[in-house]
Amino acid sequence: MSKKKEVPIFWKNPYQKEIQTNISSVKGTSIQLSQDLFYPGGGGQLFDTGSITIDNTEYRVLETYKDESGIWYKTDIKDEGLLQKNQDVILKLDWKRRYSFMKAHSAQHLVSHLLDKSLSCDTEKANFEEGKIEIIISEKISLEQCLEILEEANSLISKGVEVLSIIVDQETYRKEYLEKARGKVSHEDNVRMIQLGEKGIDLTCCGGIHVNNLSEINGIFLESLKEYTLKLHVDKQGIAFANLQRKLMIEIEDITTKKGTKLLEMINNKIEENEILEESNVSLLRMIFKKIKVWSEKINEYNLVLLSLPEIDRQAILASLKELEKDVFVALLGRDEILYVISTDERLSAKEIVKNIIDKTGKKGGGNPAFAQVSVKDIDKPFELVKSVLTS
Ligand SMILES: [Zn+2]
Repeated sequence: MSKKKEVPIFWKNPYQKEIQTNISSVKGTSIQLSQDLFYPGGGGQLFDTGSITIDNTEYRVLETYKDESGIWYKTDIKDEGLLQKNQDVILKLDWKRRYSFMKAHSAQHLVSHLLDKSLSCDTEKANFEEGKIEIIISEKISLEQCLEILEEANSLISKGVEVLSIIVDQETYRKEYLEKARGKVSHEDNVRMIQLGEKGIDLTCCGGIHVNNLSEINGIFLESLKEYTLKLHVDKQGIAFANLQRKLMIEIEDITTKKGTKLLEMINNKIEENEILEESNVSLLRMIFKKIKVWSEKINEYNLVLLSLPEIDRQAILASLKELEKDVFVALLGRDEILYVISTDERLSAKEIVKNIIDKTGKKGGGNPAFAQVSVKDIDKPFELVKSVLTS
């Protein structure tokens, strides 16, 4: 008995959040259902999670995955006796998660299409998190090109372009769509394609889940473009991200035009306040390092900058080092009461300074001519140690 595979609900109606169905198969704490609601992951898009209610008790669906026999729902049910064939269940989506994936994934269709159309740049891979997209592209593009693409994408979003789902059998696909559609086609009975706009701005084979209209995305925002990796944010989260970045830039612009140790306190507060990611710590440090002489004081003809940034660690400093201005010494009191000494002044190395401090204090440390570190735990005025080496 061969039954034509039904079109899954997440293709027909990705906005349906709940179904009543029954268990068709059981394997440990995983089950299959007579009707499917959750997306099992694929194409970079993550699987759905949610809840399953059996006899008025709600359990979690931790994961959804697919194998040759169909879609499996992995539950947190301890009592496997509850999971019987034909048992009625109510399945409910974690809608916030699902909807954010729908938006991010649809945004990726749009960006990938524009990259292809305008720059003949292919999308090699796409990864998603809630509100975030990472696209690996086949060509290096410039920041200006990237921003032009995003401008066009955002203009199509504000126009409210429709996202259409087209499902045909393999034969129809080969006859009518093979030449027109981007992307890899699956070997299943049905071929599913996603079309942007009624007139067909873009047509791509895709088994994922999408919004009905691009306007739901609200906007696409650039996080970074490095080598072949494009990182984007979408929707409200993207707007918040863009504003936070802009706030930080305004503050830094303000700070870098002023002088004085109070300002360093301000920078440090910014890092804590904004709960910025490690990555942004590095960006901030790079910006400071580029214009660091503004804060330097002259000691014995040397330029010394003292930074107290307890959120900054060794990794962040190492990642920022190459940005540092020439002929300057930086003493940075960082995480875990470690004093980092950096020298871009050929007359005196960071290693020599740290060695001198180790000799005086008996603390542990070491390093190379450009970058060295020493523990200053329980030392009252660690910066004085550095100053005294430069004055001697
Ligand atoms: Zn898709």
